[in-house]
Amino acid sequence: MIEVRDCKSVWSNCLTYIKEQVGDQSYRTWFEPIEPLMLNNSVLTIQVPSQFFYEWLEEHYVNVLRNAIDIELGSEGQLEYSISVEKRSQSVTNGSTNGHDKQLGAKTNGTKVPDVHNAGREKAHKLAAEYQLKAEYTFDNFIEGDCNRLARSAGYAVAQKPGVTSFNPLFVYGGVGLGKSHLVQAIGSEIQKQFPDKLVMYVDSQRFANQFVEAIKSNQASDFGQVYQSADVLIVDDVQFFAGKEKTQEIFFHVFNNLHQNGKQVILTSDCSPKDLKGFQERLLSRFKWGLNTDLQFPDLETRIAIIHKKAEAHGVAIPENVIEYLAYSVDTNLRELEGVINSMLAQNALAGRTLDLELAKETLQKIVQSIESEVGIDYIQKFVAEYFNVAVDLLKDKTRKREIVVARQVSMYFAKEYTNMSLKSIGAHFGGRDHSTVIHAITAVNDLIDTDKRFNATMQDLIKKIKLKPGV
Ligand code: ADP
Ligand code: MG
Repeated sequence: MIEVRDCKSVWSNCLTYIKEQVGDQSYRTWFEPIEPLMLNNSVLTIQVPSQFFYEWLEEHYVNVLRNAIDIELGSEGQLEYSISVEKRSQSVTNGSTNGHDKQLGAKTNGTKVPDVHNAGREKAHKLAAEYQLKAEYTFDNFIEGDCNRLARSAGYAVAQKPGVTSFNPLFVYGGVGLGKSHLVQAIGSEIQKQFPDKLVMYVDSQRFANQFVEAIKSNQASDFGQVYQSADVLIVDDVQFFAGKEKTQEIFFHVFNNLHQNGKQVILTSDCSPKDLKGFQERLLSRFKWGLNTDLQFPDLETRIAIIHKKAEAHGVAIPENVIEYLAYSVDTNLRELEGVINSMLAQNALAGRTLDLELAKETLQKIVQSIESEVGIDYIQKFVAEYFNVAVDLLKDKTRKREIVVARQVSMYFAKEYTNMSLKSIGAHFGGRDHSTVIHAITAVNDLIDTDKRFNATMQDLIKKIKLKPGV
């Protein structure tokens, strides 16, 4: 009994010290869940919820723990970990770490804890089943062209030998609608087909980040890492959205290292190359560059024609050649737009009995292009940005030079240039009749801030995400 009380009070003193050293959030996530188990000749044993949790403590808090033990138990003090497995299982693996004079972070006895691992893997299987790969995103349906040859063949090689080629990670980048998601899902499906036992997890980065926030809220951050670490192949789509998210990057870094060390395949996509990614920890960017970085370009006309043929074939319909050519000529920036047009035409064909002819193609194309333009019009941008910065829209068009208004105004101009086809002159006109040089100045100022001010960059990434989250954009 006495021993139990002692270990509790010793640990509680340690916690008081630790709390002063680490942030509130970290304290709640990584220290509150720990249970003191016993104190035996200056050896304090604490129970941590999982192997992952233990590794995280070792990696991030080894010094704080060492100091705490030092203060409480003196130089003789040692810390031992016990890793509790999921509640339903009884087996407990003990791990010991030596005290302060040696590395506090020596290995535990049980680096592999089967029950913990299985529990993580079970959850991972569930998650993988939830975010299924799209069945139509296969290699067969992915037309090869000069625009994607390297990425496609590297992807194919990875699919034949996941984790074994030097393409680890495989990092595929390129603009919106150029086939990144299609290609990486094709790799995932192919692996699934070839190696049914391998666990393929596909997740987009925003979902990953949101889940992580949820996990922190419910004190399950360590479980979260464990789940993703049990994948054999982890595909994270659109990693650019990790920009500015320090904590998410940290956990992803940990997951990445663990997978990579264990010969698991990591596949990433992004809208730009690692060297152009902003708001990322250097160590993460350097990992991104380890394997193969390969880009997707916009396909040439012939490839676009072949893609449309393929889409039509997949839907089991015949589209006349002149219509296909018209579409291939007209859609010249983004293949997703092309898909939108085809789907809409097919719907009108099936539901309203319209013939798949040039007239329908023109009509549909016009509607879709219009809706894209009006979705992100300048009014929308001004309203959105003003709300975000909590300033009145009218002030954006006013002469005010107040700092927060100036920032909101410049950011709105920046987005107007990015997301509309308006000329600099007409953008200026929408901001109280300013001239085009003011707009240029605003865009340069925003770009400079993105490059030099981390917090501003994070704000911008958040804004970009939210503007794009608008349905239909
Ligand atoms: P991204 O992820 O780069 O934004 P997607 O993978 O969503 O782009 O691709 C947009 C659309 O273009 C999808 O319908 C996809 O099937 C199609 N697509 C892109 N590249 C090809 C290709 N090489 N062959 C066939 N379809 C393609
Ligand atoms: Mg995509």
